[in-house]
Amino acid sequence: MLQQLEEHKIPQLKPGAARPGTMLANVFRGPGRCGLEEKPIPAAGPGEAVVKVRLTTICGTDVHILRGEYPVKDGLTIGHEMVGVIHELGAGVEGYAVGQRVLSGAITPCGQCEPCLGGDKSQCGGPLGGWKLGNTLDGTQAEYVVIPHAQANLALVPDDLADEDVLLLADIASTGFSAAERGHIRLGDTVAVFAQGPIGLCATLGARLMGASAIIAVDNDPNRLHMAEQFGATTTLLAGPGTVARILEITGGRGVDLAIEALGTQETFENALRSLRPGGTLSSLGVYSGHLKMPLDAIGAGLADQTVVTTLCPGGKERMTRLMRLVAAGRINLRPLLTHVFSLRDIARAYDLFASRTDGVLKVAIRVS
Ligand SMILES: [Zn+2]
Ligand SMILES: [Zn+2]
Repeated sequence: MLQQLEEHKIPQLKPGAARPGTMLANVFRGPGRCGLEEKPIPAAGPGEAVVKVRLTTICGTDVHILRGEYPVKDGLTIGHEMVGVIHELGAGVEGYAVGQRVLSGAITPCGQCEPCLGGDKSQCGGPLGGWKLGNTLDGTQAEYVVIPHAQANLALVPDDLADEDVLLLADIASTGFSAAERGHIRLGDTVAVFAQGPIGLCATLGARLMGASAIIAVDNDPNRLHMAEQFGATTTLLAGPGTVARILEITGGRGVDLAIEALGTQETFENALRSLRPGGTLSSLGVYSGHLKMPLDAIGAGLADQTVVTTLCPGGKERMTRLMRLVAAGRINLRPLLTHVFSLRDIARAYDLFASRTDGVLKVAIRVS
């Protein structure tokens, strides 16, 4: 796959090479094709803000987009995690000033529609509608980005927090924590987390924050399991045929109260289901392709009183501000997840490394300015 991407790579422009009034952006040009291109620096329409990007990331979803596994329109700028500085405020955006440093969630709800006002902000305007940046609107892997519904989405970053401290709250931490929150962990509950990629690690951390007693982390990568211990796992299991049996053994044959699925495969979904106690909850974070099968024996033929909940990353400035307080208070440290930093100029290399999962990579940060 990587070789194929190499062959189709678009010639790369260098940051700083853009003409006045233009900027560099990492643009999708069909499956296997993306690269830096010049685009006009955007202007802020009513209710919008233009933010000069300081630090952004590559997300697993971006790799799916690049491979053509998640459709976006040709010419779209990719990326949805970002810390930056307000460059321009559109009409009607109040209480902010140019130059302020801000974090925007990957999900940018309007705050006004029925799903938003009903509390389902990720589903703003309709199914999955809260995800706009790098999906339906130009994203954050660029020198400037337009943040829609700025009033609802710009969270001021406290001066004593670095970009690297808060960047991952935009997406993976908010998503990972949400698995624990939507699983309604009670103090002392037992939890298994299937897959310890960046989001799974944040789910493990969320389970710890919410007071789980046993947190069993499962992955096929020993390095990721080692990281899981730092993020709160009380037991780590190398994924294999005996995973479910081992979880049942650890829980005295009972099964876990909450199983979190953080990969998006039939196998991990089934294992999560089979690890549950009767009446337990499966909190699903993975993005699945094709059909997901529900084996009858794992749900007591439909009588096992289980709950399955799913999550799209919660966003909006209230959540971003609240999660930044966890960092400021020293309750969480997401920096160990940022294993590599590249400049925007080197974003193609960053994609190759991130997609290859070599060199212990967890999350890649892109320093833009
Ligand atoms: Zn993402
Ligand atoms: Zn809305």
